[in-house]
Amino acid sequence: MTSQDDFERTISYGENALSLIKRNQVSAFPRNYEFWYTYSAGFNIGLNKAINDILRDRGRITATDIDNIYAEYLSPRRIGEQIEDVGSQVSEEISQVISMIECSLAESTAYETSLNGANQKLSNTTDLSRIREIVKDLISANEENSGINKNLRTQLEESQRQITELQSNLEVIRFESLTDELTTLANRKHFDQSIDRALAKADETGEPLALLMTDIDHFKRFNDTYGHQTGDQVLRLVALAVKQNVKGQDIPCRYGGEEFSVILPRTHLRQAVTVAEHIRKSVMSKELIKRSTGEHLGRITISIGVALYHPGEGVADFIERTDQCMYAAKRTGRNKVLCETDPEVGEYRQAVA
Ligand code: GH3
Ligand code: MG
Ligand code: MG
Repeated sequence: MTSQDDFERTISYGENALSLIKRNQVSAFPRNYEFWYTYSAGFNIGLNKAINDILRDRGRITATDIDNIYAEYLSPRRIGEQIEDVGSQVSEEISQVISMIECSLAESTAYETSLNGANQKLSNTTDLSRIREIVKDLISANEENSGINKNLRTQLEESQRQITELQSNLEVIRFESLTDELTTLANRKHFDQSIDRALAKADETGEPLALLMTDIDHFKRFNDTYGHQTGDQVLRLVALAVKQNVKGQDIPCRYGGEEFSVILPRTHLRQAVTVAEHIRKSVMSKELIKRSTGEHLGRITISIGVALYHPGEGVADFIERTDQCMYAAKRTGRNKVLCETDPEVGEYRQAVA
């Protein structure tokens, strides 16, 4: 979370990526590095599964495997391509609707002309059989016109159905782009958008707004002991504990690797601390058992910082204050919840000032 944490974590992913590049004997091109870095970080569950399947079957990942997996799980154009796809289908539908309307306008002009013509002819004749003929023509022009209208209605209904389907496709893409794949919580992008909105709302209404930042204790050690895949299962478990202990308006997110945050609109500090305590207790109450072997892995704990928004301050300051509470919790023993009114936080701030 601090730049020092990011430094250590990313260097460890980077070193791991390089050793995987060597082990699999592929070139260290930036794209291959990104590929193995993402694998080491473990946050792209589909990519990790695809790689692990190949490693299990064939023991090594080739340049072609990288091409395929990269295209499927990493290509930065993936979401963009999907949006472009839906976009071009929408414009195709719109041009079809426009040409239907143009066609219908031309038909109704022809119908109007034939009505005017009939009117003209009727005023120029008193001959009964001629009048019959004109009325017959009118009836058939009218039938033709209602046929065209019926056709137009069917086509418009079909377009409406397709546009509704495209709308729901767009909704799925939007959801995917804001969701963390591993934990299915809101991702960092969602967090950034949500916290901006929450601050604006709190400024507008004067209602309290709280923020929780959680970080798993000694998670590196856990990963080193049991491996990244098991680490990922633990991340899912923590995410579930976070999700199950918040409600309605609260927004739980995966903030970073093993860091989760919860935005709590209309919530006072004390209430937020209670939520944090529930999350902490829920995580430590779970006995971890490795699914594949039944091995008992003990328990894990988390440290949580809680802060209340100071109206008018920026997002960065608010997050920084919350982080400081979390770091104070780490420094003073871990597996605890601290907020700014706790003396440990003041002491921590003095120590790092
Ligand atoms: P601390 O108690 O001080 O938090 O110790 P820590 O070891 O948890 O240290 P830190 O918070 O810096 O943890 C970073 C570690 O979290 C590095 C890495 O092993 C693990 N990690 C981060 N993201 C992921 C992920 O997506 N999957 C897995 N399995 N592990 C991750
Ligand atoms: Mg951390
Ligand atoms: Mg940690």
